[in-house]
Amino acid sequence: MAGGTGRTGGSRRGALALAAGVLAAVASVLGVAVALDDALYAQLATRAAPAYPPPVTVVGLTGAESWSNARLASLLEQLQVAGARGIALDMPLRSDPADPAGDARLARALLDDRMVLGVALQAGDDARPRASMPPVEFADAARLAHVWLPRDRDGRIRGHLPHVVSLDGIRWPSLALALVRSGDAVGAGRMETPARWRVAYDNGQGPAPRTLHASDVLQGNAGTGLLGDHWVLVGVTDPARLAPLPGPYGSPTLYPVEHEARAMASLLQGTVSAPLSAAVQALLSLLLAGGAVLLGLGERRSTWRMPLALLAGIAGALLLAIVLLHWRHWFAPGGVVLVLAAILASGCLTALRRRLRDRRRLPGLATRGRLASAVHAVRTKGTAHALLLLEVPGGVRGGQAVDDAAARIARLLQARARRPGDLAAHLGGGRFALLLPGTSATAAERILEEIRAQAAEPGTPLRLAGSIHACADESCDCLRHLAPRTAPASAG
Ligand SMILES: [Zn+2]
Repeated sequence: MAGGTGRTGGSRRGALALAAGVLAAVASVLGVAVALDDALYAQLATRAAPAYPPPVTVVGLTGAESWSNARLASLLEQLQVAGARGIALDMPLRSDPADPAGDARLARALLDDRMVLGVALQAGDDARPRASMPPVEFADAARLAHVWLPRDRDGRIRGHLPHVVSLDGIRWPSLALALVRSGDAVGAGRMETPARWRVAYDNGQGPAPRTLHASDVLQGNAGTGLLGDHWVLVGVTDPARLAPLPGPYGSPTLYPVEHEARAMASLLQGTVSAPLSAAVQALLSLLLAGGAVLLGLGERRSTWRMPLALLAGIAGALLLAIVLLHWRHWFAPGGVVLVLAAILASGCLTALRRRLRDRRRLPGLATRGRLASAVHAVRTKGTAHALLLLEVPGGVRGGQAVDDAAARIARLLQARARRPGDLAAHLGGGRFALLLPGTSATAAERILEEIRAQAAEPGTPLRLAGSIHACADESCDCLRHLAPRTAPASAG
């Protein structure tokens, strides 16, 4: 039973709730349950996405053959002829002194309204990254955008930076943003925040941008349906030249250009969202987890109060994530869910262990459930019966002395359950019962007195409280007496 009264009980509840809240806040900010968050985000964000595939296609450069600037220029010309809506080049360009004609042709191909050239940003010793500019003849022709892929703490890529300011003070738009704005923009202006978006990675379920082989496109073998009026991103997709990078948990590894294509698709489909700041994320987690535990530890305690409060807390966290995602904000519920589920699991485990221990300690005694069905059976048959209830004042819990006391009561009751229909049971918490079908109230009274007298015999005398409930017909309310007792507000 919960110790303490009034104020001390209240402050203990408050301290426990605060501890749970802080634990959830820390877990949530450190991303302890990040795999769970990723799975949830994939489910929720994919659900919000339209069912048709986004008009975004990756053209991947593969194979051993080198891609000269002239060959790259013909690829771009091919894409322009196919009617691509916008074309982005996500790869480093070099001028070739041996082939000035090829360089000139590439520069001409880049000189197009639809063309965006990716610029690599490299993190240096400074807080801001350094831009490694392409040769001037190419940089002058195309519009430029950054292709920086922000890594999360665990090295995975989930987000997209719409803008990055480099060391020289230039504000670079991202490839996706620059591409969309090159055509007729789809309200991309509202996406121009300095903060990171979360990209809706598909988890292998929803429609995702397709990747075509560049050599197939060059030979005219690859689907024109995936190029005409599509946003096309050209980049290296060759494991020999570039390692693929991990996305969120549950999604496959992708080449950098494919990550850019996912960001582009999310932008077009309107499924990007802004993660809450760490402070807001922590505060909401603290309130949800702490509130649930506080609710569960309320003044009037019962068996189901805490489990229900914990489940409500978990449901609340999930609901908050769904509602905020509707408004394009992402609250990661994993920390709250993890902490509350852990408390729930440990509570269940403790209850189970207690039950097993009771059963081992008191062999031969029925459980409350079995006694209840026996009572139900005699009531249905209309048999007159007596229910004898015994209790050790103060309860039976913990310690060798009380264990011995319980075992002794068990032996006394079993000795009395002589006939086939008799049933002795432990109701938990130091309460015992004996069902005696066909026994009158007077006979039951005598049996109770005998048991109490035997328990009080010298040696280790036990003072037992007891009562009798006798039912003559079907108007039986024995089950009411078997119900688990709700603890009083204060046990002091
Ligand atoms: Zn009854």
